[in-house]
Amino acid sequence: MSADDLHSRAEAVRAGDRRALARAITLVESTRRQDRDAALALLDALMPATGGALRLGISGAPGVGKSTFIEALGLHLIADGHRVAVLAVDPSSALGGGAILGDKTRMADLAREARAFIRPSPTGGGLGGVARRTRDAILICEAAGFDVVIVETVGVGQSEIAVRDMVDMFILLIAPAAGDELQGIKRGIVEIADLLVVTKADGELGREAARTRADYQSALHLLRPASAHWTPKVLSCSALEDTGIAEMWQAACAFRQAMDGAGEIAARRRAQALHAMWAEVRDGLEAELKASPEVARRLPAIEAEVASGTLSPAAAATRLLDAVVGAASKSD
Ligand code: GDP
Repeated sequence: MSADDLHSRAEAVRAGDRRALARAITLVESTRRQDRDAALALLDALMPATGGALRLGISGAPGVGKSTFIEALGLHLIADGHRVAVLAVDPSSALGGGAILGDKTRMADLAREARAFIRPSPTGGGLGGVARRTRDAILICEAAGFDVVIVETVGVGQSEIAVRDMVDMFILLIAPAAGDELQGIKRGIVEIADLLVVTKADGELGREAARTRADYQSALHLLRPASAHWTPKVLSCSALEDTGIAEMWQAACAFRQAMDGAGEIAARRRAQALHAMWAEVRDGLEAELKASPEVARRLPAIEAEVASGTLSPAAAATRLLDAVVGAASKSD
């Protein structure tokens, strides 16, 4: 990409041009080497315009009501004058399988809004790759002027942790009274949530929603809050009847105010950025290593030894690393 081309692409994104925004995200999602260089140059050009959004992670089991909730929240925010981007992190599409969140018809009303932008999950490349591309997409959406960026993920596997690591606030949606066991407690997900929202608090489910809310509220008392400046809360809402959505947003604003005042959002973002940098370094080194002819030559024998149990994984890793960086590190 020429310098002129880069400049005009960055300008178009910053002006909020939706096609330029979609193209920029496609560029950072590309795995082609030459696209990667262009993507990094574009991100560099956009960096000064990033950081302005409240980054929300929203997770929950399939069917809990994520898309209905996000659509209701998004429409509420747009009516309030906000611009809302929704990015999905789908662990099933990360593995190259059928996408749980991939259905294009989700959030159809929100998708029609000029002040909303909805992007399905990048596919393939494993969760690490999807997370990396989503982090870049958050920055691009911020540069394009979105002031609320929602990262949605399905509550299966490690994706919640990956999303928690790229947002300011992590929100867990819970279905009313789905069994006696508190969902998410066992998997350690409730502990990382800044806000819990019981969905479908309407009609016949209303009473169960109230009970579920009380159950979680008392369970939260037993957990140590992640921050000294914010105590996680449990709310309930009905996206269908549009109740509790405004309260949820008020809680998000209260969170932002409390955490910002204490410098915690900035601190989280700093830690996240450094963590992301090291994840990129690890990915890059691994790719470099795998591309090395020296490694390619030695790999089959080393892998066979590890697989048969005659060589420890640690010793094998050292041999592979030495094959590429050994000389450099020994000269330090
Ligand atoms: P997702 O898989 O988590 O994205 O869940 P969906 O948003 O697709 O919702 C799953 C089902 O729950 C759908 O049949 C929705 O109509 C229903 N649902 C979602 N929100 C509500 C709500 O507030 N109240 C009721 N009663 N049903 C809801």
